[in-house]
Amino acid sequence: MRDTEMFDIIGREEDRQKYNVELIASENFVSDEVREAQGSVLTNKYAEGYPGKRYYGGCVHVDEAERLTIARAKELFGAEYANVQPHSGSQANMGVYLAALEPGDTVLGMDLTSGGHLTHGHPLNFSGRSYNFVPYNVNRETERIDYDELERLALEHHPKLIVAGASAYPRVIDFSRLREIADKSGALLMVDMAHIAGLVAAGLHPSPVPYADFVTTTTHKTLRGPRGGLILAKEEYGKKIDSRVFPGMQGGPLEHVIAAKGVALHEAMQPEFKTYAQNILNNVQAMADEFEKAGFRMVSGGSDNHLILLDTMSSLGMTGKEAERLLDLAGITCNKNTIPFDQQKPFVTSGIRLGSAAMTSRGFGEPEFRQTARWIVDVLKDGTDEHAAAVRKEVRALTETFPTGAQV
Ligand code: PLP
Repeated sequence: MRDTEMFDIIGREEDRQKYNVELIASENFVSDEVREAQGSVLTNKYAEGYPGKRYYGGCVHVDEAERLTIARAKELFGAEYANVQPHSGSQANMGVYLAALEPGDTVLGMDLTSGGHLTHGHPLNFSGRSYNFVPYNVNRETERIDYDELERLALEHHPKLIVAGASAYPRVIDFSRLREIADKSGALLMVDMAHIAGLVAAGLHPSPVPYADFVTTTTHKTLRGPRGGLILAKEEYGKKIDSRVFPGMQGGPLEHVIAAKGVALHEAMQPEFKTYAQNILNNVQAMADEFEKAGFRMVSGGSDNHLILLDTMSSLGMTGKEAERLLDLAGITCNKNTIPFDQQKPFVTSGIRLGSAAMTSRGFGEPEFRQTARWIVDVLKDGTDEHAAAVRKEVRALTETFPTGAQV
């Protein structure tokens, strides 16, 4: 008997994805082929270990799939080594920490309110509980990473590892400067490129791979693959990382997800993906232009990448929580987000984070992104639920004319 209860829920989520404008900067819409691989029979297979060295029989084909995904990851990013098994971005980071650090070691990581991720040393996360993280911040005036301050902290604390990369940072990151700081202070360098991996793959953001000892990423953000993680590194660290991922922190790899990662990496190697990534950037600029015209303040004054951090508190005296709620009513999905040196609690915040990767996959271009930004301005300035609900009808009329999955 079909489980209609569950499939009805999934159907409602399908509708939500179809009729809303999806601006969550960490999300994307995958292609049908990525979904096909992820929904394939590979989900049935246990394969503890690595290709050619498994703890189970019958792994001949999952070995082929995993080897192909590893080869594509190395080729796409120009890396010496890749581990494609981490179930998530957090686990990719854990794999590197287990390989590079001992409990209690000192690490520099970007503070959450400056744009860093929980796994970069938040006190409630395993990272902050297991290691001595010293946070670095953006500069108060420029709201860009304060590399001089980072260098000062590195020379003062002698961290074993410097962690760079962010969840909410709208500017280009200077990996060569980070390498210099790491060398000067005797630290290893890890770059978590989760948000920008698709831009890096397309050559539209500098690559951290030549500079960092370890590069981690999720596969589901701008890279547009299945939910999962990936570790790239210099070959010398490969054996240790392999053993820290399995048996160090995971059991059987998700071979169906690994196959889907392989499909996504193949898509990212095509010329069309470069066009896609360029459109992500163009579309953010179109939104930024509309926000500027409306006099809204964007953190750091704008964006170089796929996301904008809108300071709703200084633009409108509105919390991020309220802005997220109103936009949800209008069918525009985003998330409240702390801004640098935020005075509000993380569940309230002074801003919202807006990304262009997902709707660009559905085919939104500059006119649609301009329209979306104008709706955001309109809904937030008006501030009433009634007006937000009225805008929702216009949003639906636009979104229902666009296909749902990534067009590849
Ligand atoms: N690293 C960064 C920079 C992120 O933004 C995220 C997720 O948002 C992660 C790691 C964690 O990824 P996951 O949610 O797959 O654990």
